[in-house]
Amino acid sequence: MADYAVASYLKDLESQFTIPKDKLKEMTLIFKNELEIGLTKIDGMLKDLPTFVYNLPDGSEVGKFLTADLGGTNLRIGLVELLGSGEFKIKKDSVMIPEALKCGSGRGIFSFVAENIEKFLEHPEIEAELPLKLGFTFSFPVKQESLAHGQILGWSKEIEARDVIGQDVVGLLQQSLHSRNLDIAVEALINDTVGTLLAQIYRDPRTKMSVILGTGSNAAYVEKSCNITKISHQEPSELTVINIEWGSFGDTKSEYNPNISNLLPSTKYDLELDFESKNSGKQRFEKMISGMYLGEIFRLIIVEMIQLGLIHKSEHFEAMKINRPYSIKTKEMSNFHEIFLSKNYEKCEEISRTKFGVSGAKSEVLSKICELISLRSCHLCAVGITSVHRHLLNSGDLSKDHLFSVALDGALYQKYPNYSKILQNLVCEMENVEKDEVCRVVLVMAEDLSSIGAAAAIAAAQKKQITN
Ligand code: ADP
Ligand code: MG
Repeated sequence: MADYAVASYLKDLESQFTIPKDKLKEMTLIFKNELEIGLTKIDGMLKDLPTFVYNLPDGSEVGKFLTADLGGTNLRIGLVELLGSGEFKIKKDSVMIPEALKCGSGRGIFSFVAENIEKFLEHPEIEAELPLKLGFTFSFPVKQESLAHGQILGWSKEIEARDVIGQDVVGLLQQSLHSRNLDIAVEALINDTVGTLLAQIYRDPRTKMSVILGTGSNAAYVEKSCNITKISHQEPSELTVINIEWGSFGDTKSEYNPNISNLLPSTKYDLELDFESKNSGKQRFEKMISGMYLGEIFRLIIVEMIQLGLIHKSEHFEAMKINRPYSIKTKEMSNFHEIFLSKNYEKCEEISRTKFGVSGAKSEVLSKICELISLRSCHLCAVGITSVHRHLLNSGDLSKDHLFSVALDGALYQKYPNYSKILQNLVCEMENVEKDEVCRVVLVMAEDLSSIGAAAAIAAAQKKQITN
């Protein structure tokens, strides 16, 4: 196939994946307004879930706590020691969630968490700390009813375990722990965004927002309780944390502007990915941003290029099952892109053949595709961050000269080549920062900190009880 056919295909892809500036502005305006609508009603496009975190840490909290963090890919168990003055120590283990569990029974997932906690306690120095209070980071949609109660609303990130929908997450874990005779009390239930936010507030109380870019994507921020008018009861503190559940942005029509029929700049690849996914029609913003999905978008493009005869199957195509959804992981796409940027073209060639199952593909073509997909993810994430900042400026909670510090975590943010740098630049660009001005939005890497946040949530709540 002639080079010009590939070039013209690439040009077309570029126009599909590049979000025009006007569209970014429109999305930011709508996101901000939907965020505000979500504070007033329970069934808004953005769920704006109250977290029942009434005591924000101030860095002075101390104590030892057990933590468990169930993400979409990994389970992390830790023993966290908060030392005060924003300092902490952590000892942790991590294990991959087995694929078979992801579409098995929900109870099986909780039993898996308890089993790994039991294994963690086999370290004698940890067992010696029993009894312990546990902070559980559970990164799936939950309708929280108090700090230590919350119903599972559904799963996401391609996990499907229907038998526990509507049940209390803490009760389920507590039962599994009891059945193993473990002297552990689950005292806080938070999700990873909230954990990351609380952890970074513990380290730096000026932090206002957190974003996760891992298997999934979501964000949380500090809100004035009086702005959450959908809650009938009086919140007992001036400030609390809102879990935006931003993955659902664009799933329904905007109430703020119902005339926009396509809120998200979806391509045919996004539509196909969504159609084939376990939660079709849901979390469509997340599906354009996060680690679970970017590799799959890349795969769909590769398969199309093969069908069009622009590139060819290599001898590894069948063995790597490239025709099967999710056979190319974002991690592999990221590794390839990184190796391309380091100019090791020979290695790139080898990866395309062995991992992506293609031959005759120029590395610069494949890396351009990686760039388009990852850059669009950065742009959409920047829309979310800028919108929350605008909301806080608009509601008078933050002045324009204030630092807006955002904690970020997740393997995509930590490891995708240049992702963090590009995102920081985009956010400043969207804030209309002139060249000689200081950008007030500062993104901070909060690597694997959500457990610290779970511990800080318990410690801050305890401190409040003691002082009352
Ligand atoms: P979790 O979502 O379970 O908390 P992580 O934050 O580790 O887990 O994110 C896992 C996701 O990040 C997976 O979708 C994986 O493909 C992706 N990922 C892992 N390593 C990399 C990498 N080097 N570059 C980009 N993405 C990665
Ligand atoms: Mg995580």
